[in-house]
Order: sequence, then C-alpha cells, then structure tokens
Amino acid sequence: MRTDKVREAAYRMRHHALNMGEAQGQGYIGQALGAADMLAAVYADQLRYRADDPHWAERDRFLLSTGHYAIALYAALAEAGIVDVAELDSYGSDGSRLPMSGMASYTPGMEISGGSLGHGLTVAVGMALGLRHQGSDSRVINFLSDGELDEGSTWEAAMGASHHQLGNLIAMVDINALQADGPTVGVLRTEPVADKWTACGWHVQRVDGNDVDALLAAFDNVHSQPVGVPSVILCDTRVGRGVPMLENREKAHFMRIDADEWQICRDQLTAGHEGALV
Ligand SMILES: [Mg+2]
Repeated sequence: MRTDKVREAAYRMRHHALNMGEAQGQGYIGQALGAADMLAAVYADQLRYRADDPHWAERDRFLLSTGHYAIALYAALAEAGIVDVAELDSYGSDGSRLPMSGMASYTPGMEISGGSLGHGLTVAVGMALGLRHQGSDSRVINFLSDGELDEGSTWEAAMGASHHQLGNLIAMVDINALQADGPTVGVLRTEPVADKWTACGWHVQRVDGNDVDALLAAFDNVHSQPVGVPSVILCDTRVGRGVPMLENREKAHFMRIDADEWQICRDQLTAGHEGALV
C-alpha cells in the first residue's frame, strides 16, 4: 500500500514533467524521469509539510541542490498539493513562479536557489545546525547529484555534518553516472563513493534509486540509526527512466526531444505503468 502510493505518485510526476517539457519545448527531462522515484519517496512518504502553509516552522526541509532539476521538483510540489497542477503549464515562461532553474524566492516549497552546484549540502548543514539549536525535530533532506561530488565544498560539508553530529540531516545522491560534461566516470572518478562517505563519518546506504521498495527501506533504516550520525542514501538511477525511447537514447545532460515525440513519451510511460500493474 505504502509502496503503491509512492509508485503512483512517481508515475504522475513523470507525466507532469513530460507535460512541462512539452509546454516549454525543452527541459531536463532525462533527470526528471530518472529522479522521480526518489522525489516521490520523499514527498509521498517521508516529508513532513503542510500544503497550505509552505513556511510552516515545523516542516521538514527539502533542499534541491541541483537547480536544473527544478522541473522534477515542480512535479513533486504539484503532487504534494503545494503547487496547483494547472500552474505547471506556465513552467519556464515569463512571469511564471516556476522558472527553469530553481529559485527560492519564486516558488512556494522551494527552500533554496540551486544551480551553483556543490552548495546545497553546505546550506543543509547550516540549516540542520540551526534547527537543532532551536530545539526543532525537523529533518533536512538534501538532494544532490553525482556531478556535485566533484566539488570540494560538498566534502567540506560532509565532514562538517559528522563533526557536528547532525543526525537530523539526510543526503540523497542521484547517481545517474552523468553530468554536464559527460559520463561522471570520465570527468572525475568518484568511486568508491560509498567508502568516501563512510570515511567522512556518515551512515551510508546504496540502493537502486528507481526501486521504490529499496528507497523506502533505506529511509526506514535511517530512522533506526543512532542519534547524531548524518545519513546518506546513494541512489543509482537511470536517465529517462519509465520512457524506453529515452532510456535507450544516447545519454546527454540536456536531452533534446522533438515536438512530435512528447506524446510518444507519454504513451510509453503509460504503457509501462499499466504493464507493471498487470
Ligand atoms: Mg548526474
């Protein structure tokens, strides 16, 4: 039941992302489809929030480091009821609250302006420290990409989190093996990545980021960890997940989709989902 709820949310979020991409004629669709299960697990199962009060003091904080994944987060915010589904049509257009790169001042539920990559975890550490000083039991979840593991600031933050015993901090890394300049393995090798987080003092789990059961089990395991240890969930994902035409296309940071392909993408997504239900 819990798994079904998250799977259904992820399915609707993938459709939202495709619809936004078609409306704008572009978007980081490959990433949005790949990360949909991660975001669905967060918003449909984990995050404490009030849809009608995005600034509720007792909310958990979800920080999107990767501003270009905003299309994926807008889909999640619509699924969460924080943004109206109808508003998604304005994605990326002048005057919209949903710009192509995530901006905290524009969008309800967007905690930080991402896009200067490698900064999200540093902000998350400060936020987690601040919440603890305030006596809050809110958690901070930071979504970051494998490309951001190239950034020294990420590792400074990782060491700081364990030094300050931030058990209220969870990092989720979208390991899609791709970044702007090409495959991560060719840009800067980060493996053995789990060992690096362990060395920084984190509780580490690595899962298939497109396996909802595995994601939920990982979150459950976070809850069972000793107080004072930050937790990272390394999520191996597939770019374009759910749309075979895109999963099989040559991987690119910015995937180009022709005008007549959006409907094919939607049809493939629907067919795959209905097939999975049989
Ligand atoms: Mg990546």
